[in-house]
Amino acid sequence: MRIPGPVPAGVDPHPSPLPEGEGASTVATAWAREDMDSLSSRGLRRFLEPLDSPQGPLVRMGGETLVNFASNDYLGLASSPTVRAAASAALESHGVGSGASRLVVGDTSAHQRLEARLASFERSEAALLFNSGFAANVGTIQALVGPEDAVFSDALNHASLIDGCRISRARVVVYPHANVEALDQALSSTPARRRLVVTDSVFSMDGDYAPLRELVSVCRAHDAALLVDEAHGTGVLGSRGAGLCEELGLEHAVDVRMGTLSKALGGLGAYICASRPVVELVLNRARPLVFSTALPAALCAAAEAAVDIVERDDALRARLWRNIRRFSDGLRSLGFAAEPRSAIFPVIVGEPGVAVAASRALRARGLLVKAIRPPTVPEGTSRLRFCLSAAHTEGHVDLALQGLRSLGL
Ligand code: PMP
Repeated sequence: MRIPGPVPAGVDPHPSPLPEGEGASTVATAWAREDMDSLSSRGLRRFLEPLDSPQGPLVRMGGETLVNFASNDYLGLASSPTVRAAASAALESHGVGSGASRLVVGDTSAHQRLEARLASFERSEAALLFNSGFAANVGTIQALVGPEDAVFSDALNHASLIDGCRISRARVVVYPHANVEALDQALSSTPARRRLVVTDSVFSMDGDYAPLRELVSVCRAHDAALLVDEAHGTGVLGSRGAGLCEELGLEHAVDVRMGTLSKALGGLGAYICASRPVVELVLNRARPLVFSTALPAALCAAAEAAVDIVERDDALRARLWRNIRRFSDGLRSLGFAAEPRSAIFPVIVGEPGVAVAASRALRARGLLVKAIRPPTVPEGTSRLRFCLSAAHTEGHVDLALQGLRSLGL
């Protein structure tokens, strides 16, 4: 491999303005130093690095212009003039903050309109907004199941599904990734008052799919409910862009679908789609919704404009898919196993230090590609993660492929 040697164990590019030890004499500081030393020695320390531009295919960072393969802004809507204009108008009419949780006084016509819009986009009886995808998963699982129940979770599910399972206090059964037979057996051997199966539709670090048709059948056979996280499917998959459930015609076979406003829809927040009784129960019980200030109306208006674009303009999705196919073909010609399934492509390198060194080598060629390390992915599977966007040109995609070839992996 032609990437530079191991990364220094963790050099903070933004050191504290205070001298070491000053303003930091707490017990927790000693805990933090101990744990951070341990992260550094394993090559797992992370740093923030601010953007000096909006999201887009080209971003400014640290004085450089970089081609951005790190963002989930799959359709380039985060800086769309139409979406920005909708947000600005609502900022003027509603102000910035929403003042309280929706159940207190934080609800507005913008929230109600967006929920109705999302329900019609998703062909669902009802939709319910959350402040983030993380909050939606945690809150929905915690609202649906409790200590007398069992929840079954794919081994590669997103952290928010994992935390939702833990917080629910239901018995948690983790089944091997995408293994429907193992799930079937686990459901057979785990009696509980209620049983809920939770899965990503598109897995966030691998870009592969959950076997949704088979999961629906197994859930039906066991009278279990199914929650599908469409964070990376919304806007990307399906003829209307409503996700993998739409693509497979399973919109009405899945109990709860979660979609984010923060990825292909270019904003912030999330929603669940479900029957009206489920939405009412979650609204009454989900702690991240009941006890947290509502999304600002400006973000609701931005999301509504983004959904309009996704539904009306399938040219954007067609451009994304052209890029996905071009990158996938290029990866295969470089000898990597790749399939055009989603906008996410992992290139697994193994050790965290190698992933960070590879990411730095790509950065030196003007490419922003993130190294993903444990605990985000299992030990030994550290990787480069390429995220494609409709806003990339063919030239950008080719630069990424040339960069990868230069690493000689
Ligand atoms: N689910 C999945 C599969 C995700 O990848 C993410 C975001 N990384 C989330 C949920 C959380 O969504 P949000 O960023 O809107 O909190």
